[in-house]
Amino acid sequence: MGAKTIAVLTSGGDAPGMNAAVRAVVRSGLSFGMKVYGVMRGYNGLLNGDLKEMNMRSVSDIMQHGGTALFTARSPEFNTPEGVQKAANMCREKGIDGVVVIGGDGSFRGARDLTGAGIPCIGVPGTIDNDIACTDYTIGYDTALNTAMEMIDRIRDTTESHDRCSVVEVMGRRCGDIALNTGVAVGALTTLVPEIPYDFQKDVLDRIRLAQSTGKRHYIIVVAEGVGHTQELAERIQKETGIESRATILGHVQRGGAPTLRDRVVASRMGYHAVELLQNGLGNRVVAMKGEQIVDFDITEALDMPRTFDEKMYRVSAILSI
Ligand code: ADP
Repeated sequence: MGAKTIAVLTSGGDAPGMNAAVRAVVRSGLSFGMKVYGVMRGYNGLLNGDLKEMNMRSVSDIMQHGGTALFTARSPEFNTPEGVQKAANMCREKGIDGVVVIGGDGSFRGARDLTGAGIPCIGVPGTIDNDIACTDYTIGYDTALNTAMEMIDRIRDTTESHDRCSVVEVMGRRCGDIALNTGVAVGALTTLVPEIPYDFQKDVLDRIRLAQSTGKRHYIIVVAEGVGHTQELAERIQKETGIESRATILGHVQRGGAPTLRDRVVASRMGYHAVELLQNGLGNRVVAMKGEQIVDFDITEALDMPRTFDEKMYRVSAILSI
């Protein structure tokens, strides 16, 4: 039998587009005749009973904003067997028989545990990092890419004016997708990602010298967060080449801002799909995108999938950047 009363929460790191997913869950649930609760501050709201019943207007005018109107949090208390039981009890008290969790891998582990405690949960991938193995796309990724690209375009203007080298660190945790795609989009001389070990001489110095020999006088190097050492890298480049080098860590600017069309549309489709699964009596599923299709997987299997890295894109990036 399908869920009659559902709840939606956003958990872990926020991402632009989460609001569109929340809106889709609320409106799809209501249109299927369900009662829908919005849970505040991730799993914390389930522990504290901080949730409110939603109506069609509760999610008006949120889709165009970054962040999450439900707020988000990391909840160490939930991440214990007692915490999971407490959250499940709160769901039972409110009659909640389905929960949509919008977040990353960590949040999905919580969703798996809460399903195990008797409350069917559906995960929706919301993170700028695009670091979830089962899906080609995560909500927030496109906005973050565009923000990083815009910021690096600005850095390029000043780098060019001063004949400098700029080493720019972008986000992505252990995943190099933001770096790789941004690197191609901004024409970075070299892009360093955690998936492929780099050689300072070959991948950095030799590339700078080769570009220099063709008349190039300014250089953008994109470094993924998972590689790190951005400041040291800039210092080392300056020391070895004599080119004035600056490090910029873009940081949380990449997490904010109005979501792009792609993030709003994908989030809307994923939110709808999550509610459809609950309506069909399913739980322990994660919504994903494969190609342009919205699909779903068992959460436990999804969490065990190995992540793949686009090595062809990496080669393309190396060839085009000179
Ligand atoms: P993200 O969802 O962005 O990966 P986190 O890893 O911080 O973010 O996870 C968000 C929340 O999900 C945590 O604060 C915790 O409450 C819950 N969580 C994370 N890992 C687990 C786990 N292994 N088991 C149960 N709950 C977890």
